[in-house]
Amino acid sequence: MIYGIKPEEFKKRVVGAKIEKISRRAKLLIIQLSNGYSLVIHLKLTGRLLFKKKLEKEDEKSHIIYEFSDQSFLLHHDFRQFGWVKLIKTLELEKYFAKEGFGPEPLDKSFTLEKFKDLLSKKPRQKIKPLLMDQTFLAGVGNVYAQEACWGAKILPTRIVKTLKEKEISDLYHYLIKILKEAIRYRGSSVDAYVDIEGKQGEYVPKLKVYNREGEKCFRCFGKIKKITLAGRGTYFCPVCQK
Ligand SMILES: [Zn+2]
Repeated sequence: MIYGIKPEEFKKRVVGAKIEKISRRAKLLIIQLSNGYSLVIHLKLTGRLLFKKKLEKEDEKSHIIYEFSDQSFLLHHDFRQFGWVKLIKTLELEKYFAKEGFGPEPLDKSFTLEKFKDLLSKKPRQKIKPLLMDQTFLAGVGNVYAQEACWGAKILPTRIVKTLKEKEISDLYHYLIKILKEAIRYRGSSVDAYVDIEGKQGEYVPKLKVYNREGEKCFRCFGKIKKITLAGRGTYFCPVCQK
């Protein structure tokens, strides 16, 4: 799970450092240390970061355990181990992000409707939902929120970008931002293994309009929700009110 460096070397560089700042870029969590390095963490589908005052027996199964000077702990647990942590020089972070080619952050002030239209105009032949999830197009939007935004804007996840009307693009833009802000307020969705730093599940699941509701009635038109696989990912939509 520790990438690009041997565990012993990782330990040597991390032990004794102070945490100076915590931030996020795309789906990456960045813990800036006082020694010129940053921990860059991707939780993927099953990763968890947990803060504990005291270690319990089951915590010993965690893949990485950081102990703080007051004897509290930060656990990184990932039972499928798809997630990872890299140690990157803080001064080289921007270069690293540039290499990853992340698109703009949808919650950044600079991400305006005009900007969204402009980005879409460069991808006319793509299907909208996989495009929203493409980290080089937009940063940080995953499978669940991409399909929720399509439902909100009443467009099919399979719609080809160049067929989208002005109003649909504007609706999609507004729903996407609204959904992301709400989901953050409710501390995420926990449709998989995600929990917050205190081990609590996110509370956004009851707010989801379409995800994981195959065969159930659409909240808007009472059509029957369908599920397809699109670009390898389970995708739900209402075949009646989404066009
Ligand atoms: Zn519907």
